[in-house]
Amino acid sequence: MPAARPLFDYPKYWAECFGPAPFLPMSRAEMDQLGWDSCDIIIVTGDAYVDHPSFGMAVIGRLLEAQGFRVGIISQPDWQSKDAFMQLGKPNLFFGIAAGNMDSMINRYTADRKVRSDDAYTPGGKGGSRPDRASLVYSQRCREAFKDVPIILGGIEASLRRIAHYDYWQDKVRRSILLDARADLLLFGNAERAIVEVAQRISRGDSVADMTDIRGTAFIRKDSPQGWFELDSSRIDRPGKVDKIINPYVNTQDTSACAVEQAKGDSQATESDVQVLELLPHPRLERDRTVIRLPAYEKVKGDPVLYAHANRVLHLETNPGNARALVQRHGDQEVWFNPPPIPLSTEEMDYVFDLPYARVPHPVYGDAKIPAYDMIRFSVNIMRGCFGGCTFCSITEHEGRIIQNRSHDSIIREIEAIRDTVPGFTGVISDLGGPTANMYRVACKSREIEASCRKPSCVYPGICENLDTDHSSLIGLYRKARELPGVKKILIASGLRYDLAVESPEYVRELVTHHVGGYLKIAPEHTENGPLDKMMKPGIGSYDRFKQMFEKYSKEAGKEQYLIPYFIAAHPGTTDEDMMNLALWLKRNGFRADQVQAFYPSPMASATAMYHSGKNPLRKVSYKSESVGTVKGERQRRLHKAFLRYHDPNNWPLLRETLKAMGRSDLIGNSKQHLIPTFQPAVDSYQSARRKNSTPAGSPKAGRLLTQHTGLPPRETGKRKSAKGKPRPGAR
Ligand code: SF4
Repeated sequence: MPAARPLFDYPKYWAECFGPAPFLPMSRAEMDQLGWDSCDIIIVTGDAYVDHPSFGMAVIGRLLEAQGFRVGIISQPDWQSKDAFMQLGKPNLFFGIAAGNMDSMINRYTADRKVRSDDAYTPGGKGGSRPDRASLVYSQRCREAFKDVPIILGGIEASLRRIAHYDYWQDKVRRSILLDARADLLLFGNAERAIVEVAQRISRGDSVADMTDIRGTAFIRKDSPQGWFELDSSRIDRPGKVDKIINPYVNTQDTSACAVEQAKGDSQATESDVQVLELLPHPRLERDRTVIRLPAYEKVKGDPVLYAHANRVLHLETNPGNARALVQRHGDQEVWFNPPPIPLSTEEMDYVFDLPYARVPHPVYGDAKIPAYDMIRFSVNIMRGCFGGCTFCSITEHEGRIIQNRSHDSIIREIEAIRDTVPGFTGVISDLGGPTANMYRVACKSREIEASCRKPSCVYPGICENLDTDHSSLIGLYRKARELPGVKKILIASGLRYDLAVESPEYVRELVTHHVGGYLKIAPEHTENGPLDKMMKPGIGSYDRFKQMFEKYSKEAGKEQYLIPYFIAAHPGTTDEDMMNLALWLKRNGFRADQVQAFYPSPMASATAMYHSGKNPLRKVSYKSESVGTVKGERQRRLHKAFLRYHDPNNWPLLRETLKAMGRSDLIGNSKQHLIPTFQPAVDSYQSARRKNSTPAGSPKAGRLLTQHTGLPPRETGKRKSAKGKPRPGAR
């Protein structure tokens, strides 16, 4: 892995003398109180400003403040004119713009493209406080406000839209957001390294136009620079004969086409068979001077197969240890993408998480509830990144698949800070986790192998033999946290990678005995191999193995507790029959889905490329390569969701009609083995969970199943209280 300059190793900007602000200012009055005549950097964000390390504007703002800069925040501005973007005056260095913690379109619209009425990142939970494609609109307004101030775009929306991307809401391929936003620079992935480097250089008087060498950045250039070797993407991923690949550099789903992998099962090589390969550097192929040319926007826009190919190549070039620069032409402009950022070290993660966050929303919001804050205010993020590689998820694309861990000491300090300073703390830490609950300190056995690997997942199709699955550091952390005075309970609410957990029975025992609050969320996502393969998720057998362990240790601990499995309807690669089989499995196992999660094609995800192109980008893509069935029409999407909620009488007419057409009338009847009954209730007495906004109440119940996957708290309707009139758990 290339070395990177530590975040804490930069000289401080002169304004360091002002010291840290209690909150980053949101008004001129606050700036006056701090004695500031101006801000050096202004962050514009689509979320309410919560000064907490789970919120992007706080992390970046506090980090820049620690570098000595004066940072102001413009949160959820009125985007109809430039006025709100001028409220803090002109920044001395630049505007940093982000849509917020979510893509603004996903925040605003449901998977069925309906407008949401709520927004978890807004005071009062009300929708409508940010524009569609917020980072683009904000950039344009900032440009109108102060024409000569550089605009640096960041956050997940910009990150996932940096390349020509399929946009589900417009059902077309859009060009890189960099061009539409007319920003000077786009930072993708976790942006700490890049933003510090950019801020330092601008403060020294460097022009943003000259900053072409910073990892994790994308920018526009007119021509290819001198001294670079350009490689056409079709040359590195051309359909046809597959070159011999030697483990572990093989791609997960290409093993069936790999002669080396196939030969492994038949015979073990004798010593005399062994050939020593000497890899000589190609003078023209130095990695750090090679750029891969992706098909142009104009080509991928009209050709879904080329789009899938470009998506595949992008995903192959995401390991910071071996990724090369990419370039994609848009008209007469080149959009250039430097390799992704180098992951933060533990010392750097601690540095970022130990910054002086107030840990509460800015006082300007008064008593208004911000649902996303309520969800995380007693939880602690212990790591970043995910090596699962689930194709429908953007975490690996954004945070990378190399886990970045905090130290035990830093995490314990944060728990103590919550205990001592956060209003309303009752002794329960609601989560010690991250993108996945149990990847903390789990990593490839060899740094060299890790730096060379191009597999998109370390756990699919099985746990990689090079993965060190030792959970002992995580177990040690749980134990230390439990011992803290004033902490009554530590819950684990992040999704568990159960196929990884079963590798460490001691971990499962620890988790089940001490850290499950009645329910444990896990995400098999499906029961059938067709869709599971396209998701890069393990088979349902892994779920069964984990369930056995979970029940055994729950029993030993004398606890009544249940698994909450999550499933996705309408994922690419899912047939009607797959959904029927899932419904039968649910019925057999006594599960009733409370809410339904339908596949949501987010920008840049591999599953989205499948959805758009009907091709599988997990394998080499060509016009003749494997086709993937997609669920697009309104009726079929409704049907797949209906199978997940086979118990809802509203769905029975559609399911009856479909089962008959599938030749499965045998599943319609009034006894236990049937999926749905023959009769239809006269009155629709069933109230859907979504309408009720229900969540499990009181003590755990077997068979309760949630399929909402946002990680956010359920919406409040104010209608329902538990028997004793107390708010329901999870409905804070
Ligand atoms: S553990 Fe992960 S990084 Fe290491 S070789 Fe396996 S897939 Fe690659």
